[in-house]
Amino acid sequence: MTRDEIKALVRTVPDFPAKGILFRDVTTLIRHGDGFAACIAHLARMAEAAGAEVIAGMEARGFIFGAAVAAHMRLGFVPVRKPGKLPVRTVGIDYALEYGRDRLEIDPGAIDKGARVVIVDDLIATGGTALAATELLRGAGARVDHALFVIDLPDLHGAERLRGAGVSVEALMD
Ligand code: IMP
Repeated sequence: MTRDEIKALVRTVPDFPAKGILFRDVTTLIRHGDGFAACIAHLARMAEAAGAEVIAGMEARGFIFGAAVAAHMRLGFVPVRKPGKLPVRTVGIDYALEYGRDRLEIDPGAIDKGARVVIVDDLIATGGTALAATELLRGAGARVDHALFVIDLPDLHGAERLRGAGVSVEALMD
């Protein structure tokens, strides 16, 4: 399945979560078996080319794509979680996002020092979420040079922000 065919499976919902916002909804993509599998195969090829040793994904939609990519590659998956979810002492980071503020947490013991971690999420908008995850993972000892997304919203310049932090960004579609 081509990237254009996968792109056609993404639904656009106007006025969610607030008036004037066009929400790109991946639930229509993941419920299509061939489309989801093709999407994961494309992302896994990109992660392999990036030399991934570990995949990290952000709660919640980053878990769907990141965990599937990790299993496809027989790599481990590290969940980057919303606050208060992990059962151990965590390290966290507060950050601004497109629709407010949020916080991400990880188990600092989840990363081997110097491990090449590739970040996977459904979508990059301003890049704030991926930048926060990068800082958090780097602080725990990871080497983070690549982030992969199903969708990039280029008008919000997230990829440029990440590049400024030394992270190259690739997406299946704009
Ligand atoms: P950023 O931090 O501004 O790059 O926003 C990206 C984060 O917000 C990702 O974790 C996305 O899941 C979520 N997000 C922002 N806009 C959308 C959208 O239109 N569809 C789905 N998720 C979105």
